[in-house]
Amino acid sequence: MADRTGRPGSGRFGRGGAGTAVVPWLAGVSLAACGLAGAGCGAARPPAPPGAAAPVVSPAPRPAPPPSGPATAPAGSASPASPSPAARPLAGKIVGIDPGHNGGNFTDPGAIAGQIWNGTEWEACDTTGTTTDGGYTEAQFNFDVATYLEADLRRDGARVVMTRTSNDGTGPCVNTRAEIINNARADVAVDIHADGGPAAGRGFTILEPVADGPDDQVIAASARFGGDVRQALLAGTPMPESDYTGVDGIMPRDDLAGLNLTTVPKVLVECGNMRNATDAALLVTARFQQQVAAALTAAIVRFLG
Ligand code: ZN
Repeated sequence: MADRTGRPGSGRFGRGGAGTAVVPWLAGVSLAACGLAGAGCGAARPPAPPGAAAPVVSPAPRPAPPPSGPATAPAGSASPASPSPAARPLAGKIVGIDPGHNGGNFTDPGAIAGQIWNGTEWEACDTTGTTTDGGYTEAQFNFDVATYLEADLRRDGARVVMTRTSNDGTGPCVNTRAEIINNARADVAVDIHADGGPAAGRGFTILEPVADGPDDQVIAASARFGGDVRQALLAGTPMPESDYTGVDGIMPRDDLAGLNLTTVPKVLVECGNMRNATDAALLVTARFQQQVAAALTAAIVRFLG
């Protein structure tokens, strides 16, 4: 979910104010994304045991060799299997992935309640995210999709920067997540979430940034990328557009650090509504998660191509 700070129903941990906990990864400023309709994000049950500190890692690019000979093969050396640029369409590109929330957030509410400046207002460092009725957490879903996506992107030649590399930690704060991707100078980035909307509501929503200063230069590109993501999700997954929020599956948001602070083209995808039984039945499956990853990869290739 992408929390709407300052609105009823969001910010499960309230405003930390001056007395916020001091946490290592709380340094700086960050954003918290959680749920659209204000439900969900943070209302879930604790899953796994507490994890260690949140890893903030920028994995080195995997030096995967060209699929069928070097793309720089000298002229005249053409072989029957000459390399196709399409085989590694993301070679040389950097892609940021932010799997929203973290499994350890459930065990450290004081830490994630710390307030960060998201570019327009104070916002909670992070939230727990929502969960299905069956207890599958959004944090786990986000990480599972991110893991599939990372593999797809690397297969296609991209260098991938993840804001967390396990589901056992706490944080990092949403502003720090934005900084990680900004500092990596990613060519494009996606924040992965699932919503905690009304039980009767279905579908995915793509949250897009609104100009507020730091993100001014990437508004148009983010909107274009959002359109690519929308088309790819409709074509490659059984999830429909949201029928309870946004317009045609798109919703601009000005209250999220991940979007407000981004200096690279980025959208936040609520891949479905975990509080809806039909959506949840899809969200919990590896098949659907792989479909989402493939759709996001296709959108990224289209956007960067
Ligand atoms: Zn979320």
